[in-house]
Amino acid sequence: MKRVSIFGATGSIGQNTIDLIRRAPSEYKVVAVTGGANIAQLAADAIELNAEIAVTAYADRLNDLRAALAGSPVEAAAGEAAIVEAASRPVDWVMSAIIGYAGLAPGIAALKQGATLALANKESLVTAGDLVLRTAKASGARLLPVDSEHSAVFQALVGENMAGVEKITITASGGAFRDWSLEDMACATPEQAATHPNWDMGQRITIDSASMFNKALEVIETKEFFSVDPQQIEVLVHPESLVHAIVSYRDAGMMAHVGPADMRHAIGYALHWPERRHLPVERLDLAKVGQLNFNAPDPARYPALRLAWGVMELGGMAGCIFNAAKETALDAFIDHRIGFLDMATVVEKTLTKLSSDNGLIRAEMTLDTVKETDQLARITAKEIMQYRKG
Ligand code: NAD
Ligand code: MG
Repeated sequence: MKRVSIFGATGSIGQNTIDLIRRAPSEYKVVAVTGGANIAQLAADAIELNAEIAVTAYADRLNDLRAALAGSPVEAAAGEAAIVEAASRPVDWVMSAIIGYAGLAPGIAALKQGATLALANKESLVTAGDLVLRTAKASGARLLPVDSEHSAVFQALVGENMAGVEKITITASGGAFRDWSLEDMACATPEQAATHPNWDMGQRITIDSASMFNKALEVIETKEFFSVDPQQIEVLVHPESLVHAIVSYRDAGMMAHVGPADMRHAIGYALHWPERRHLPVERLDLAKVGQLNFNAPDPARYPALRLAWGVMELGGMAGCIFNAAKETALDAFIDHRIGFLDMATVVEKTLTKLSSDNGLIRAEMTLDTVKETDQLARITAKEIMQYRKG
């Protein structure tokens, strides 16, 4: 039996992971499941999957979780430290699907104990790529991509040598505002930004798709995951969201990965790797699809992409600052405190301010220094937003 844990089990990726595990219950022993405020969902899944432990991120919800688990053998725990403790429990495979910076510490704990880490939490690689990769190397743990584009690249690289790779293209749907003018984007509301044309995902990543901050994170994730130069990475807008990535080789051959916009394909690939097993995912009928379109993203409407290349050039802690400032600006946008296009301005100003401190950017990367930098970037982004208001 494969021992598995699911971090961020109540979210969009977590629920899709559970959907696959639920179909073959005899093959898996579920150790830990974690969630946030949705205690009813967390408890129901933990009981159904017969998990060892269920953990909510919120320390003050422990009693609610205990009550929801009453009468079942599932252990209850709460708070950040409890999530990291749960990640240290030995398993074969961990789904890292907490959203945001909060996914980093449990991911590191899972890698330390040698589990294969199925990484949906792209923020870990953006924030602390060097630390994540070093930790995996030290314990011999394997990292598998779950982000659809990175799973696609990974699949297009099977049997190939990185020396033959010329370019990696990841595609972007263009999000909710693909066809909007810059003027309209300036007035866009969080509700409008949280509607995705092709993918059904959590609210935060859906808004990040509309701003292309999600793609900016993925560009950095590509650099970290596949150790390529920033100049070897390209983003193309592909409205159909069916070609997820293309690897271009030096003999002019291009390997494209094509599949339906259903995260269970990438999750299932990481769950069963290196095997391919049947997955309950729609089969594409390309004759019906008819056309696949690609175009270059408009730099004026998507400043987040330009920022990603700046972050890769800076290296070190720049990714941590970028992600923290982005998360802070996104909170403010969701709360209607700043406009849609202000997010990129806040992130750029935070980066400009903090990147002048070479000691900060080049600091040795540990969980503690990353946490300090993350907090500093959040405070700085908040100060910048305060100043804008005043
Ligand atoms: P979501 O918002 O639907 O779910 C997030 C999960 O994390 C929930 O279980 C929530 O309870 C938990 N969580 C939130 N804040 C937490 C905190 N501070 N501490 C601990 N747990 C916390 O998010 P999602 O869309 O499933 O995305 C999860 C991750 O996967 C993200 O990193 C995202 O970028 C990545 N991803 C998602 C998709 C997708 O289709 N949804 C695709 C590719 C990559
Ligand atoms: Mg993606």
